[in-house]
Amino acid sequence: MSKINGFVGRRDLLKLVGVGGLGIGAIATFGSIIPGTEQIAIADANPANPNPVNASEAWKRLLAGNQRFASQKRQYPHQSLEHLQLVAPTQYPFATILGCADSRVPAEIIFDQGLGDLFVVRVAGNVASDTAIGSLEYATAILGSQLIVVLGHRRCGAVTAAIKNEPLPGRIGFIIENIKPALAKVKIGTGDAVKDAVIANIQYQVEKLHQNSVILAKLVREGQLKIVGAFYDIDTGKISFIK
Ligand SMILES: [Zn+2]
Repeated sequence: MSKINGFVGRRDLLKLVGVGGLGIGAIATFGSIIPGTEQIAIADANPANPNPVNASEAWKRLLAGNQRFASQKRQYPHQSLEHLQLVAPTQYPFATILGCADSRVPAEIIFDQGLGDLFVVRVAGNVASDTAIGSLEYATAILGSQLIVVLGHRRCGAVTAAIKNEPLPGRIGFIIENIKPALAKVKIGTGDAVKDAVIANIQYQVEKLHQNSVILAKLVREGQLKIVGAFYDIDTGKISFIK
């Protein structure tokens, strides 16, 4: 069976599970999990990443980019039309972000990265929903990214709403319900209740990614993936690592 970055190729995986597009999250798996899949022929798999980036190096790149951003020394890398044409045939994002949809938290800007560098999933409250997990599985198992960063931020409106615990219209409440369990897990007291809850929510969503995805858990177990948390301070622009 052909493999990409050590994993089953995208087209292969879609053949295995009998679906098209990105609808692989709920049922995608590896050959070792679906018996007999090793025999399936693969014609059009992407080439393996010639320069795979491990989690440690990926985190260093993110941190360096954030330091450039926060010190107003951005380099705006990989943002030309020429670079787009370079990455147009295939993508190998070196890191994957599950970040809040907040307008002040655009990953490529705050990490000073460009086209093809980051696979970014954004949803209010950086909630590890099923659809978010499916996207993260695609970024890691198929595209070969070896680092997922769950990125929360200061004064997150979704987390604030979860703390207030008031009735919300439409489907906003659905997001809040996915944050509330984190509030019972607040461990630290910084004097800023929202910040404490944001950190607890980051940790909770990291935990959910490990627990709710067979694919991500397998990659972590095999040393092919790390899932970490980070806090983005929208007052300073700085990122800090969350254990
Ligand atoms: Zn937010």
